[in-house]
Amino acid sequence: MELKHKKILVVGLARTGVAVARFLADRGAVVTITDMKDEEALVPYLEQLADLEVNFELGRHDKHTFLMADLIVVSPGVPMDIKPLLLAKAHRRPVISEIELASNFIKASLVAITGTNGKTTTTTLTGEIFNACGFKTYVGGNIGNPLIELVTSGEKAERVVAEISSFQLEGIRNFHPRVAVLLNITEDHLDRYESFQEYIDAKMRIFENQTGEDFAVINTDDPLVAEQAGKIKAQIIPMSRQKELSQGIYHRDGFITFRWAGREERFSTAGFKLQGVHNIDNIMAALAATLLMGCAADKALAAVNGFSGLPHRMEFVRDVNGVAYYEDSKGTNVGSVVKSLESFVGGVTLIAGGKDKGGDYSPLADLVRERVRYLILLGEAKERINGALGNLTSTHLVGSLEEAVTLAHQLTEPGGVVLFSPACSSFDMFKNYEERGERFKAVVRALSSGEAE
Ligand code: ADP
Repeated sequence: MELKHKKILVVGLARTGVAVARFLADRGAVVTITDMKDEEALVPYLEQLADLEVNFELGRHDKHTFLMADLIVVSPGVPMDIKPLLLAKAHRRPVISEIELASNFIKASLVAITGTNGKTTTTTLTGEIFNACGFKTYVGGNIGNPLIELVTSGEKAERVVAEISSFQLEGIRNFHPRVAVLLNITEDHLDRYESFQEYIDAKMRIFENQTGEDFAVINTDDPLVAEQAGKIKAQIIPMSRQKELSQGIYHRDGFITFRWAGREERFSTAGFKLQGVHNIDNIMAALAATLLMGCAADKALAAVNGFSGLPHRMEFVRDVNGVAYYEDSKGTNVGSVVKSLESFVGGVTLIAGGKDKGGDYSPLADLVRERVRYLILLGEAKERINGALGNLTSTHLVGSLEEAVTLAHQLTEPGGVVLFSPACSSFDMFKNYEERGERFKAVVRALSSGEAE
């Protein structure tokens, strides 16, 4: 990819925008950065670019700049369907995402992980396993470290593990992972896609440039994923919690078995710290990817046993009078709340709600009927969730997270569980899911362990 003297527009100035601009300027490109936020809001990022010769168009997008660019690189937070990008595409301007740019310059074997849920957990664990197996590994993508930072750092990695979102996949051309993982597909982001099919098509692009020499690890228990398998050119390694497989990776009776090309490895789940059925999927995906890419089974198992998960994903907070409180603020869609509820047999007080993403809440109906004793709803989405699920159990609508926790504390009987798993994004009341999760934990920690009034 020749960049020297090319007019390149970077859309979106945050951590990724800074890294991309620096990389491009170092390679002699004529760089312009545009962002709808104004200078004042972007001060910390502008400071990081002070030593570079780049142009800025802040507080606006100028369509002429888009039309004049030789190449447009879009940061992960910027939707691909904003007007100036659509216009640029209509005028055949090349529009790519940061992962596309970076992957052109990355030599190491790439494992790319996508799915509606479980990406961050699986990506992090895959990185841990590679490291434990002695491979120098860079973990990045949607997870926080832009891939391009690996290229600019000049460091040599032997393995790269990238968390990939559907938005990033919309901007690929040659992106070509050696191993691509698809964990699951359930409804999400319908506020940003015209249709569910469009979202599925975007996810499937992770396999687009693979050949018969590459690997696709896919969750064949997921009907939507299984339905798409025919489109994949890479060698398919199926994974299942339901079926024993002659080739692939599966879970049965406390063991995960990996079978591929005459190799068979068995892993006991007894030492796993990660809880919940969904994490068996995440672990299987990470094991398959790493075993295919040169890892030894004993070291891989030791890494899995040493991994206790990430904050805000089914995080145990504390026990108050025999009631266990879990914070699952990252449960931002219905599919992830389904899995979180499946992890408990019953007696759950579920606190849900937040910013509505336009999805269907009815896939939760059976689990709510069977396992949720009290449903406490808050945020913008509370009326719509109430409409879908409110008649299935004792349901209460509240005005704040504090009120929700106080009510949960009063209602939940000893032996029960209070689960905060919103099924919605956080932007109606919070800056992000992390802030929302921290707030929940702070309120729970402040509960008195005396009798509820
Ligand atoms: P992502 O990066 O895809 O958002 P995370 O690992 O951050 O995924 O997990 C997000 C949420 O989804 C958490 O609430 C978690 O409990 C749930 N989850 C994690 N893995 C899975 C999975 N394989 N299937 C369904 N839900 C999952």
